[in-house]
Amino acid sequence: MYLRWGGNALGDTLTQQMQAVKTTAKAIAGLIEAGNEVVIAHGNGPQVGMINLAMEAGGRSEAKTPYIPMSVCVAMSQGYIGYDLQNALREELLDRGHNIPVASIITQTVVDENDPAFADPTKPIGSFYSKEEAEEMMQRGYVMREDAGRGWRRVVASPMPVDIVEKDTIKALLAAGQVVVAAGGGGIPVRRQGNHLAGASAVVDKDFASCVLADIIDADWLIILTAVEQVAINYGTPAQQWLAHLSVADAERYAAEGQFAPGSMLPKVQAAARFAATKPGRKALITLLEKAEDGIAGKTGTVIEQ
Ligand code: ADP
Ligand code: MG
Repeated sequence: MYLRWGGNALGDTLTQQMQAVKTTAKAIAGLIEAGNEVVIAHGNGPQVGMINLAMEAGGRSEAKTPYIPMSVCVAMSQGYIGYDLQNALREELLDRGHNIPVASIITQTVVDENDPAFADPTKPIGSFYSKEEAEEMMQRGYVMREDAGRGWRRVVASPMPVDIVEKDTIKALLAAGQVVVAAGGGGIPVRRQGNHLAGASAVVDKDFASCVLADIIDADWLIILTAVEQVAINYGTPAQQWLAHLSVADAERYAAEGQFAPGSMLPKVQAAARFAATKPGRKALITLLEKAEDGIAGKTGTVIEQ
């Protein structure tokens, strides 16, 4: 079973995150108690933005923090979120009488050096800047884009995930009955250069990375936990219709029709459909964090299967 949940759900401050992981731990502990083998991925959008900004501010101050590339910021976010999440889960499981080891794996996602995304960075990260600040940052090598009249933002490439470097470690832990937190923030993007893994100045979409890892561990379920209970067509219009079931073919057709917002619901439905298409019997579920158990039981959520 493979769970993935959003970074926005983690809040904006350290205290909010600490509180959020407790709720998450309660929802996930039930699934573990029921005997499921579980791998958990998480988002990191706000957190990696915060880390990146702090590092940049440090670089401009007397403290002279060295330049920290995006790949290292993703690694830091995995450590920071994994630390809170693994401890919250450990505690929740112990409170329920289960001594099950939980570990976060610093996970690297292999991307293709020739992925066309590198030539066209589109994923906005961090905060907004004035034109003057943006020009100064562009001189320092950042790619900056004007964002819908709201100011300038840094954009990075979002290449497709190809493989997960730590896959054998993750599989070994699962086989030993342990709970694994992996592929946080879509994983640290790396390019293979012989035996060397070179960090890429990019972020990998967490939904697609989750799909790749769920396939590798041969999961029966890919569970995408987000801010909405079900997927809808005609979303936000009077003709809105919530979907309990979605075939892979319908998911693809609706996606092509533009039913799902790019950057939010679209990658989730695409990742869900891709996972379900890999093998008959595999199911993907999109629902709210607290509804994961109900979703598996067929009571709510949107299930995508062949
Ligand atoms: P996450 O942080 O989990 O990646 P996002 O905010 O990126 O979550 O995406 C989930 C959001 O997608 C929902 O809260 C909802 O507002 C929006 N959304 C867009 N299109 C649809 C749709 N067709 N059906 C349901 N939700 C949709
Ligand atoms: Mg999102």
